[in-house]
Amino acid sequence: MAVPNKDSRQSFHLQFVTSPTADTQGTLAVLHFDSQRYMIGRLAEGAQRACIQRGVGIKKLHTAFLTGTTTWKDNGGLLGFVLTLADLQRNAEQDVSSSTGPGPPIRIHGGPKLMHSVACARRFIFRTGSPLKVHEHQVGDFKWPSEPEFVDENIRVWPIAISASSLPSSSDTVDNLVKEEQAVRRSIVSAMFNSDWRADRLEQRPFESVKLPATVWRRDPETRKLQSTYCTSMKDAPHIQPGDIVSVRQPWPASLIAEIPNASNLPEAVAMSYLVRGHHQRGAFDSKKATALGVPNNAIRKELVNGKAITLDNGTVITPDMVVGAGRPSKGVAFFDLPSVAHVQQLQHLLSVNRGMLEDIVAVVWMLGPRVADSQVFKSTIATLSTLDHFISRSDFSSNSLAFESVAASAIRLSEVSSSLFPIPLYDTADPKDTVPAASRHFPVRPGLQLNLEPRYGQDDSHVPPPMTIDSVERPQSQEYIAAKSALGPDAITYAPSLTEPEIVTLGTGSAQPSKYRNVSATLLRMPNGQGNYLLDCGENTMGQLRRLYSPSELKDILLNLKGIWISHLHADHHLGTISVLHDRAVAFDESAPDADRPIYLMSEPNMIDYVRDYASVEPFVTQRSGLIPIVCNQNVGPLLDGREYDFSTQESSAISSVRTVNVSHCQNAQAVAITFKDGFKISYSGDCRPSARFCRIGRGSDVLIHEATFDDEMEGDALAKKHCTISEALGVALRMEAKNVVLTHFSQRYQKLPNLSMTKLPGELAFEEARGNFDAGPIDATQGGSYFDDDSIITTDKQSAMSLHPDFLDLSTQIPSNTDTRASEDANLIASLSASRAASLERRRATVATNMAVCVAFDYMRVRVSQIKDCRRLYPAIQAMFAEMEQRSDDRKAAERAAISSNLREKAEQREKKANGASSGKKAAGTGGADSTSNSNGNKNKGEPQI
Ligand SMILES: [Zn+2]
Repeated sequence: MAVPNKDSRQSFHLQFVTSPTADTQGTLAVLHFDSQRYMIGRLAEGAQRACIQRGVGIKKLHTAFLTGTTTWKDNGGLLGFVLTLADLQRNAEQDVSSSTGPGPPIRIHGGPKLMHSVACARRFIFRTGSPLKVHEHQVGDFKWPSEPEFVDENIRVWPIAISASSLPSSSDTVDNLVKEEQAVRRSIVSAMFNSDWRADRLEQRPFESVKLPATVWRRDPETRKLQSTYCTSMKDAPHIQPGDIVSVRQPWPASLIAEIPNASNLPEAVAMSYLVRGHHQRGAFDSKKATALGVPNNAIRKELVNGKAITLDNGTVITPDMVVGAGRPSKGVAFFDLPSVAHVQQLQHLLSVNRGMLEDIVAVVWMLGPRVADSQVFKSTIATLSTLDHFISRSDFSSNSLAFESVAASAIRLSEVSSSLFPIPLYDTADPKDTVPAASRHFPVRPGLQLNLEPRYGQDDSHVPPPMTIDSVERPQSQEYIAAKSALGPDAITYAPSLTEPEIVTLGTGSAQPSKYRNVSATLLRMPNGQGNYLLDCGENTMGQLRRLYSPSELKDILLNLKGIWISHLHADHHLGTISVLHDRAVAFDESAPDADRPIYLMSEPNMIDYVRDYASVEPFVTQRSGLIPIVCNQNVGPLLDGREYDFSTQESSAISSVRTVNVSHCQNAQAVAITFKDGFKISYSGDCRPSARFCRIGRGSDVLIHEATFDDEMEGDALAKKHCTISEALGVALRMEAKNVVLTHFSQRYQKLPNLSMTKLPGELAFEEARGNFDAGPIDATQGGSYFDDDSIITTDKQSAMSLHPDFLDLSTQIPSNTDTRASEDANLIASLSASRAASLERRRATVATNMAVCVAFDYMRVRVSQIKDCRRLYPAIQAMFAEMEQRSDDRKAAERAAISSNLREKAEQREKKANGASSGKKAAGTGGADSTSNSNGNKNKGEPQI
């Protein structure tokens, strides 16, 4: 296998990160240079998680070339990825120990509508100092030879826009309009990422002119202290008169633009492909010749390598061609993304009229849509390129291997404890070779496969993971595990195929960014008796999680019966999967019931509704074929449809009787919800928040509470600062809500496997934010300004948590401290107003609630019927033993790896020493040539030596 030669300045290779599977829908490759990396391919949902799984570092990634079309299906992972990159930059800049300063701008290249689709996200994306440059390729005839559209120190790139239909006829008037509209979009995108707007800048104005809801600040006339009040209406601040001058934050500028130019006049069905070439490779430096010509062995040789002539002390001029051999063009790769046969026809035409277009190209990566690979036109096209290597991925026949091995392994192990609760993710073991035409130079795209381009061409499959199956997963074997498991008996929890009661499927249970073990937020509620399915939050790749759980026919059924999506707030980890769920649902209707009514509620704050409506001009199905009923949620007036109050209870087609939401302390407009069904079932869902008394009120007596529990109890400070809950706080809310069942979810990605459920600090009183008067007005940080992710985005590898799980943690009754906390929480006030005996009776009631309350901990892919939540605790001793053992093994492996690396380094150092000793005693082997021949007599590299 060719290994990139470290001495070559242009050494580079390509590595595949994803190929089409259930949860990684696109094909993505990363081009590696020493100084930078480039993404080329589809940034579909799940691509970022695949980078984490494959160990592809993204720190050096600043540039992406998106293939395919500007649709959510092809590039729905873009926004999440861009925000992660922007946050990496922000963290690097805030790191005082780092001397790197501000990073380079993030550059995204793509086809028509790319700028528009990014600009649509202006309501929830806000970053300062992370410039994003969107390069939307102008569609026109591809001509060869031509200048590359992108050039930097490493690569040259030629984009090729391939259209399936004839392009709209252009005229000067239309072109000018398009240009003007594009300028508007560009300035919006610039304001989203590189504005000088600051969250802590306040503006003064009369209270009556403030656009509510908003947090308003006013100086107390007596104490002169600045006080804040969160107002959804002027009634919330009876102490402020309409004419009083208050201070408010300025919304970030891009969010103020209500409408952007419609994108419908931009070209449709254009798929992007690229030709990527390295730079001209220099010839080898002939050290012997240089010495013979009298060129001293020092930094001056670098000048010659860099193409400059030098003059020796004796006046002789040495030109580069005298000592540097002839160079050659660098190798290149073509990336052809062809969604349909019509696109192949276009490409075939381009190849025929642009002879030499594939000059120096050594390999072609084909990303083929359905039925393309079997078409005659594709077969004849590839036949004309028989001297090249072909890497083929086809969306209609891909090996559905497990792309996220870590979570899959965890799910497979959990299924041994209870296959009812933890189903095994669906996959197949088809040989990827069967997906490509049988020919000697045809290869399937496999994640991990590396294609070395310079200095020596070759494939390296040592990073391709072996296919994962149920049997290949490591199992726990400890005594503790075996004893705990056998104590469970065979049927700890059984799964009935027919749905006779509500079922909760926790699709994504992690906070902030996706990690190896937990995807971002999404929970599916399946109601019995034809009442439909509902999604509570819908983070990136919710569809991918669903595809691992349900067969195609089951999934179709789930989608056809999906009747509502509720989005808690506009942090990216809670809603970026929405468009693709709507898309796949619309497709399911088109295929199975084209004429049926397909209503689906999208319930959220106004910005989410506006975002989806905006996005419809990129993909019109959103408003034309999705059946969308956009419901704006509002805690004061209740749900609104087109500005009018919407009464679910009178809707014959709706199984919901009421939806009540409250604003919670987390970020602007974050909400929690309580949904009651007509059959009486009541479910409450927190979204992300600090403990909320209002939420306790609307959720009173819920059958199920799903509550975030981002942090361990030891991290109470983080929970407060980042506006999340600890596990104890979440259970405290459940207690006060008198919820019958609790599902804890949304765990910090610090706790990759199991949260610490030690219940040592269950608070008697919760610090309800709204009652303390600082609701939504805590420390000003990025989360206040519309940050994309929760501010819990730094994934640490250190073990923050003891990962202990106390099997008896549910015995809450003994742990309720007396109500002696004097903090002015709403609850404490309430209790204070009661007589002593009534307070005692309330406490007794809570103790009863606590004893009877069933609690379970969510894992990705978990499905639990409501009546089974109480049984989950029986499984925890076995699960606890499992995680303890697996973690120990992983620690042992890491220690062994570290030991191997250090012994390897020691060995190398010894060898170097031996070699150095050998050289100084004149035993060095002669004639090794190349870099070795430029070594000094003591065998150490001279720092000033040219590295060729
Ligand atoms: Zn959040």
